[in-house]
Amino acid sequence: MESMTTTDQSSPASATAQRPARPKRNQAVLEVLGKTRVSPRLLRLTLGGEGYEALNRNRNSDAYVKFLIADPASGLQPPYDMDALREHSPELMPARRTYTVRRWDDEKRRIEVDVVLHGDGEDSGIAARWADEAQPGDLLAMSGAGGGYTPAPETRRHLMLGDHAALPAIAAGLEAMDEDAQGTVLIQLDHDEDRLELEHPAGVEVRWLIGERELLLEAVDQLDLEDHEGLQIFCHVERGITKQLRAKLVKEAGIPREQISISAYWALGRIEDQFQAEKREPIGRIDD
Ligand SMILES: Cc1cc2nc3c(=O)[nH]c(=O)nc-3n(C[C@H](O)[C@H](O)[C@H](O)COP(=O)(O)OP(=O)(O)OC[C@H]3O[C@@H](n4cnc5c(N)ncnc54)[C@H](O)[C@@H]3O)c2cc1C
Repeated sequence: MESMTTTDQSSPASATAQRPARPKRNQAVLEVLGKTRVSPRLLRLTLGGEGYEALNRNRNSDAYVKFLIADPASGLQPPYDMDALREHSPELMPARRTYTVRRWDDEKRRIEVDVVLHGDGEDSGIAARWADEAQPGDLLAMSGAGGGYTPAPETRRHLMLGDHAALPAIAAGLEAMDEDAQGTVLIQLDHDEDRLELEHPAGVEVRWLIGERELLLEAVDQLDLEDHEGLQIFCHVERGITKQLRAKLVKEAGIPREQISISAYWALGRIEDQFQAEKREPIGRIDD
């Protein structure tokens, strides 16, 4: 009897039958517990419940999840069988959108996510609209969390560069810094009224650049980056600007790439599906 079981488990045929075609991504289903307007164009969602345990809790200050948002007309309820949908009804596949975990609350099993309400009507996006219309009790499936940056305690000087979409990650990063941390944070926003009061170490200067995205490029030109020993950089903005910032930091200032966390958070004129797909093409590459 024992040997039969052993033989069955090791047989290649049964192993193939048990193995899924592609690894399943863990899906957490969280409930909308609350909504707060943090500024005119920033909406905080509090999400929690049983699904919290299925999140890959991590300590990166830029931890992010991927929301899965199905068209309400599809009648689909989370969690979604993505493999079955891909195979049989690809037109019903939920949209995948990336959001920073602004704050974790392990005790209450909740996360907070700050969603930028960009654009109006048709110019807005699936996730921004979904968040705007979400009601307490609504369910949201997500995968993650991933992440890759956290302020290193040995850092001599921090430099954080971001726009509205990166503001949640910057705010979380500032809160994760040591009290005696030093550095500069430059945040570009389209509208003055979306500035926030950020908690930050006294030695870290926070500067708001209100207006066009290019302000960030001009402000970086004014920085003294010659002495970059012990400098740690976080740089996440719109794709076109990210590429130009990379050139300034790596090519012009000669800062070693490993001191910089850099990637685009979104791309002008691209919905996220296209933006993510283009990462495999020359236009989508930040590093050359
Ligand atoms: C690691 C990571 C973390 C992120 N964290 C956050 C976060 O915490 N909060 C947050 O709001 N965003 C965050 N983003 C950006 C967010 O994923 C994108 O903005 C996403 O495109 C929003 O989806 P959507 O469905 O609203 O718009 P989409 O359907 O993807 O896009 C619709 C249109 O809106 C434009 N657009 C998209 N985002 C913006 C924007 N921010 N400003 C102006 N126009 C835009 C697009 O170019 C497109 O033309 C993060 C991205 C990454 C990669």
